[in-house]
Amino acid sequence: MAHFFLSAAHKSSGKTTLAIGLARVFARAGVAVQPFKKGPDYIDPLWLSAAAGRPCHNLDFHTMAAGEIKALFAAKSADAALALVEGNKGLYDGLDLEGTNSNAALAKLLAAPVVLVIDAQGMTRGIAPLLLGYKAFDPDVRIAGVILNKLGGSRHEAKLRRIIEHYTDIPVLGAVQKDAALEIVERHLGLMPSNESTATEPTVDAIADAVARQVDLDRLRALAATVPALPPTSAAAPVAARDVRIGVVRDSAFGFYYPGDLEALQAAGAELVYVDSMRERALPRVDGLFIGGGFPETHMAALEANASFRAEVRAAVEAGLPVYAECGGLMYLCRQIRWKGDVRRMAGAIGADVVMHDRPQGRGYVRLKETGRGPWERLGGAGETPAHEFHYAGLENLPADAVFAYEVLRGHGLDGRRDGLIHRNTLASFSHLRDTQTNHWAARFAAFARRCRQAGIPEIRTAAPELDTAPARREIRPDRAPARVHLVGAGPGDAALLTVRARELLTEADIVVYDRLVSNDVLALVRPGATKIFAGKAARAHFVKQDEINELLVRMARTGKRVVRLKGGDPFVFGRGSEEAQELARNGIAFEVVPGITASTGCTARAGIPLTHRGLARAVTFVTGHAQDGKDIDLNWKALADSRTTLVIYMGLTNAALIRDELMKAGLAGATPAAAIEKGTTPEQRTVLTTLADLPECVAREQLQPPTLFVIGEVVELAKDLNWASTILDCGRAAHG
Ligand code: SAH
Repeated sequence: MAHFFLSAAHKSSGKTTLAIGLARVFARAGVAVQPFKKGPDYIDPLWLSAAAGRPCHNLDFHTMAAGEIKALFAAKSADAALALVEGNKGLYDGLDLEGTNSNAALAKLLAAPVVLVIDAQGMTRGIAPLLLGYKAFDPDVRIAGVILNKLGGSRHEAKLRRIIEHYTDIPVLGAVQKDAALEIVERHLGLMPSNESTATEPTVDAIADAVARQVDLDRLRALAATVPALPPTSAAAPVAARDVRIGVVRDSAFGFYYPGDLEALQAAGAELVYVDSMRERALPRVDGLFIGGGFPETHMAALEANASFRAEVRAAVEAGLPVYAECGGLMYLCRQIRWKGDVRRMAGAIGADVVMHDRPQGRGYVRLKETGRGPWERLGGAGETPAHEFHYAGLENLPADAVFAYEVLRGHGLDGRRDGLIHRNTLASFSHLRDTQTNHWAARFAAFARRCRQAGIPEIRTAAPELDTAPARREIRPDRAPARVHLVGAGPGDAALLTVRARELLTEADIVVYDRLVSNDVLALVRPGATKIFAGKAARAHFVKQDEINELLVRMARTGKRVVRLKGGDPFVFGRGSEEAQELARNGIAFEVVPGITASTGCTARAGIPLTHRGLARAVTFVTGHAQDGKDIDLNWKALADSRTTLVIYMGLTNAALIRDELMKAGLAGATPAAAIEKGTTPEQRTVLTTLADLPECVAREQLQPPTLFVIGEVVELAKDLNWASTILDCGRAAHG
């Protein structure tokens, strides 16, 4: 199989542009081109993949053994007609003195002829010793051709061609003129991964057109064919059953994935489910989630705007979903990103804030040592793994008790010492891993997700005990954004019993969604221009209805209007206010809760019944006498049958007989005083006094209507002395003498 290595004398020679152009030109001509890129890099490979129409694979000495590089190269080019390897930096540049990890070393390993891209700006005769020197420096490197770039016109080109021909035996394969348009494109390439570019295709095609005109493609191809045959590749690994679903967040904000790593996840039994963090409202059903790197900061407004997705990710992390996040993914999991004076909210699954700095905080190769506290099965051997990083982001306000998966032996990570934040079953680090022999992270992650699923998520790991000196303490910080929905208690009926805040909100509201219990007096206070929506629930269709209300609130909130959700009494006392709040939280909608006077305190105050009284009642219990879906009332009657605890029963009217029977069966005396208060605090309030035994008959005889509240206990007796506001009717006992 034909192949060649595209390198340069120094970086910024235009090598990437040429590689993209060549990949596309050959692909356009129907030649299957397999692109490779040396080193840890996501951006160039994304462009090369787009140009060639085949995933570009990285060849990297830091994370891979030499044999592994050769095997990957052979395997991925097996069904291609031409393989193109794009180097990084200059041909001989590298970290160590001997150049063991240089482009030259990689070209030799792959027995690849090298095509040098030379930035010829301002060069004339000096190009000869440059090329001769490159040839002489390592005779084992086969410099097979040169492409002159950024030429200053046809005379410049002719001169250089003559010089090269005269002094060297290196063929000139191409001569590309300096082109302002191409330079703009070039700048764009390095800054923007193709997954973010809205103009990938036209950009790639423009480069390809320039390359096609100025490079001798036939000669290049012929030269690439003069290579020794590659050893046959071993048979592909058996395909594992895809028994675990891994979500991969891949969109214009997150695109840094090694194709080989995704393949490794699949080989480890993962079915990959791609998710768009800006378009999708919900997380699909997955057993694990992988959020790779990218540039979340350039999409932070759009990421913030998808509040429901952020909330889903946060909830999933909290519930113990195995999540693995790298760099941009880590940034997304944090509370917020600050960049150029703008602050945007992210998922808030990790209690830290991201700040974008002007200079890279970490860049280059990384070596990590596992602390043993990470969620996945431990790495073998010394527990060390190669990785790489490139981030301008740093974290602030990390919790003091943060737990880390890695000690940083080389590189920066979070703070020069540590990387890999662990929260629940989530591992999030600035370092990027690559699935290779030394660390088959994909299989480890897939296995962990599988284990969690089998154990029934959430599998919440407890931190290693020997390191756990302080008891776990976690601050749950509220969402401080201005509320868009106000869950407001309307009190029991009398508008004079509203809180000051409730009243203020009613006069400011754009939309008021109210319940059956809210009195007309209270509704009369709503700002005249506001839209009033009645959301009274039909008892039978309770569940469906509540869902609809939840949805309605979310929808209304999204219009940007000020929404007041008005509920009788207190929203958090048998008001389902908390269910609505949950739904709002899930959707990332900020809310406020304004308490109201609940029926228990409002109605009894007006009836002269204290809820507690020394010597009579030392406790008070609020229960609902409502039975759901015709089932029995779900109450612990034994616990409620206590003569010294006042029992307040909401929604008990239809089940009065059952309530009496159960309480008496559980041992509460039939003579225990009881009251039924109808339409408490309104001008029509009726307070009926009776006993537990007589309560149902009394309710029937007086034809009490909802809303009615029952109060059972010795304190009810005091109404006779303390009644100050309404007439009370002593009903039951009269009937029974
Ligand atoms: N969130 C409300 C309770 C809603 S449940 C609160 O905090 O008060 C509805 C039940 O509350 C009714 O069935 C009734 O038992 C009681 N209730 C509410 N307002 C009432 C009123 N004005 N008079 C009597 N009972 C009332």
